[in-house]
Amino acid sequence: MIYDPPLSYVSEEPGGPWSNYLEQLDRVRPYLPDASGIEGLKRPKRIMIVDIPIRLDSGDMAYFEGYRVQHSLARGPGKGGIRLHPAVNLSEVMALAAWMTMKCAVVGIPFGGAKGGVRCDPTMLSQHEVERIVRRYISEINLIIGPKIDIPAPDVGTNAQIMAWVMDTYSMNKGRTVPGVTTGKPVAIGGSLGRQDATGRGVYVCAEELGKRLNLSMAGARVVVQGFGNVGNAAARCFHRAGAKVIAVSDVRGAIMNHRGLDVPALVQHVAQTGSVVGFPEAEPLDGMALFELEVEYLVPAALENQITERNAPRVKAKAVVEGANGPTTPDADDILGRHGVLVVPDILANAGGVTVSYFEWVQDFNEYFWSEEEINARLARIMRDSFQAVWQLAQERKITLRTSAYVLAVGRVLEAKRMRGVYP
Ligand code: NAD
Repeated sequence: MIYDPPLSYVSEEPGGPWSNYLEQLDRVRPYLPDASGIEGLKRPKRIMIVDIPIRLDSGDMAYFEGYRVQHSLARGPGKGGIRLHPAVNLSEVMALAAWMTMKCAVVGIPFGGAKGGVRCDPTMLSQHEVERIVRRYISEINLIIGPKIDIPAPDVGTNAQIMAWVMDTYSMNKGRTVPGVTTGKPVAIGGSLGRQDATGRGVYVCAEELGKRLNLSMAGARVVVQGFGNVGNAAARCFHRAGAKVIAVSDVRGAIMNHRGLDVPALVQHVAQTGSVVGFPEAEPLDGMALFELEVEYLVPAALENQITERNAPRVKAKAVVEGANGPTTPDADDILGRHGVLVVPDILANAGGVTVSYFEWVQDFNEYFWSEEEINARLARIMRDSFQAVWQLAQERKITLRTSAYVLAVGRVLEAKRMRGVYP
């Protein structure tokens, strides 16, 4: 008998990220040699909700809601980014934390899964206001983070500068410099070379590995990228360097397209100058959702969750979806894509390059010895290729999707760790 009541604090509509995660977990159960204990993965280990009062530049007070969720610490300290976005809520952060547990397990790095977020719109706040939010948030969650406890990193709306404030705030509270409390920091304060582009680079390596197995040449391959932030921008540059044609990209302001292939380095400059892909010369505007319907080899969603749903999945004409974002495809959409022969490289594998180099950063911080960018990129590529091969091989053997295969490996590893540790007390 298992007493496993539903979590009273989940208030999400069906189809939200946490429900999607639960469904992904249910789908893997029949393929596990031993699924005992899997119900434990439906319950985050620890959740902290904090109030973040700050004084705005105007002198007025403003209050924000912040979260840190540690989904599982069975395989090591918690690891996961901090998101600043107006749609952040508890269920979303729970799902993102759970996906981190699976991601670290699928690439075999010794971390559990965690995630944090503050419900705020950084585009409507000044840099100083964002800094005050981040510093107060870190001071509030200070009790449950630390280099051997739970290590934040960048996610949507956060970057290396914000990680510098995270590191500084934690260090000030401790009275000593603690670089290992966060990753994705600037190189000047213990960040790793190659971290900035690591997620996008890992996305590209997965696309390349898939292409080899499908006999798709990268030269001239057509690529579409949704979201041109940290992940999408770096992935687009990798595809472009390899001779692929990035024909359309989008960001929150709009989408652009050029059938002959966009000049990605020039686009990066345009975004640096104007803040958006919109208005880039030598490209025509495109409806943001029409992007998903273009006939391409690789479609890379690199924005937010629930972008490919049962509504638009039937019109996806890509040969493969390589998930740069976390949770961009709903389980229903997954089924539709599968029926239409569209292969999906799942988020927990495809975007694991970021956490892999975060792991390298953490190791370097502890050793106070830093590796060259070539060494980082080579180690990253090796882990991504080996992980891809393991997921691919199992999918072939068991005749399952790449997502189910990745979950079989990941859940198996987490459950093994939990069983070895036993139940305390
Ligand atoms: P970011 O804030 O740097 O960029 C997000 C981009 O998405 C921006 O260009 C934004 O304009 C765009 N965007 C937002 N809403 C959009 C919409 N509706 N349509 C089109 N574009 C939209 O964030 P990021 O760090 O690049 O993260 C993107 C995704 O990748 C998230 O799902 C994140 O969880 C995931 N991820 C990030 C990392 C990392 O290392 N940063 C690692 C793994 C996974």
